Amino acid sequence: MQFISTRGQTDPLGFSEAVAVGLAPDGGLFLPERLPDFSGELARFEGLAYAELCGEFLGRFATDLEPAVLKDLMARSYRNFSHPAVAPLEQLGEDLFVLELFHGPTLAFKDFALQLLGNLYEQQCRVRGQTLNVLGATSGDTGAAAIHGLLGKPGVAIFILYPDGRIAPLQERQMACTGAENVFALAVDGTFDDAQAALKEVFGDQAFRQRHRLSAVNSINLARVLAQCVYYLYAWLRLPQSKRSNIEFVVPTGNFGNVLAGWLLRKMGVPIRSFKIATNQNDILYRLFTTGEYRLAPVAPSLAPSMDIQVASNFERFLYYAVGRDPTRVRDILRTFRETGIYRFEQFDADCFSASRCTDQGISAIIKRVYQKYGYVCDPHTACGFADLGSDRVSVVLATASPAKFPEAIHAATGLEPTHPSLEALKSKPVAKHVIRADAASIKAFIAEHGV
Ligand SMILES: *Cc1c(COP(=O)(O)O)cnc(C)c1O
Repeated sequence: MQFISTRGQTDPLGFSEAVAVGLAPDGGLFLPERLPDFSGELARFEGLAYAELCGEFLGRFATDLEPAVLKDLMARSYRNFSHPAVAPLEQLGEDLFVLELFHGPTLAFKDFALQLLGNLYEQQCRVRGQTLNVLGATSGDTGAAAIHGLLGKPGVAIFILYPDGRIAPLQERQMACTGAENVFALAVDGTFDDAQAALKEVFGDQAFRQRHRLSAVNSINLARVLAQCVYYLYAWLRLPQSKRSNIEFVVPTGNFGNVLAGWLLRKMGVPIRSFKIATNQNDILYRLFTTGEYRLAPVAPSLAPSMDIQVASNFERFLYYAVGRDPTRVRDILRTFRETGIYRFEQFDADCFSASRCTDQGISAIIKRVYQKYGYVCDPHTACGFADLGSDRVSVVLATASPAKFPEAIHAATGLEPTHPSLEALKSKPVAKHVIRADAASIKAFIAEHGV
């Protein structure tokens, strides 16, 4: 299988190459040249364990990997999840389910993609006999998940920049208390935007980038999207036959990567009724899907920080299909948006998407209500999913983080103090962070000294 760019100016690449490159050279995002049709294979998938299902699914895309290699990659990627089901489905009501995606090493759904991506990077280093320095900036969950995907892997070092003093203490500990020698938590003196700007400059230095074999960790990698398709399929297979075609997946959304994966699966022949895009007060996607206007607004920090975004980077993949797979139109629309901060669609086809949004006040009220009504404790991101449930359908709310990661918000709403053994263990470990200036020269010097 080959992968093409949404902007149409990159030659198609195989799976491993597209994963290694990340962003296509023309600035676009990779998509499968053609989507496979799984409708005839669903019966065969019944009863498969998570890693097996993942192997079956990804095998259709990663055609340049040996089946045995792929199988081994899957087994290793999901063995660090603490729940035997990997992605357990909890039933709260007759037609209300929660798909728990927070049983991985960092207690948020990003582990599903980044455990796999870490193993793919390791595999590539081995095949090519090269080392790799992975670099990223984070305002929270992605950095921790990326670090835990690469922890202790031979031939790979990972450097994650984050704004010093501006991320949750537990999130910092997940990055800075691993004890692994190939992990560097870089606390930047500045904001997240400063960190990101410095990072861009480092990547802009082509000679440095090649000399140190730098690779970016970000939310647009093809492998992340494909890995995330699998839990939708797994959940679908776990529901009774009578409910399956009436499922609405409700997805707490920021960069649009998670919900996009579900939507792609539907395009591959899995009969899902619809998707709800659940945003917090940063509602650019809610506004787009309800009015057809894509308009930039400033980010307002919320109780659900991993959804505090300005531009949803994965939206470009949906856009590609929405404009009839016309890369020229994709480029035109994105150019207008980049230049003016707004794009108004003449006719916006929301397809099977609807959207909801939730303020911080709403998040607290929902955490309390869901606890009182169902005895279920949800985290602030997941809470956004409960804002507006349809009554004529089977709602499956994706629980994207463990409540234990947000003890203050949960305590304020319910009086409970959720915790998790892995987070408790972190509290007694030494913090190994490197405070660094938010400029490219300092970051380059650090990588040159500590990289592989
Ligand atoms: C990243 C994240 C989200 C948003 O997911 P997207 O793929 O960016 O839409 C939601 N909840 C949590 C806990 C996250 O870490």
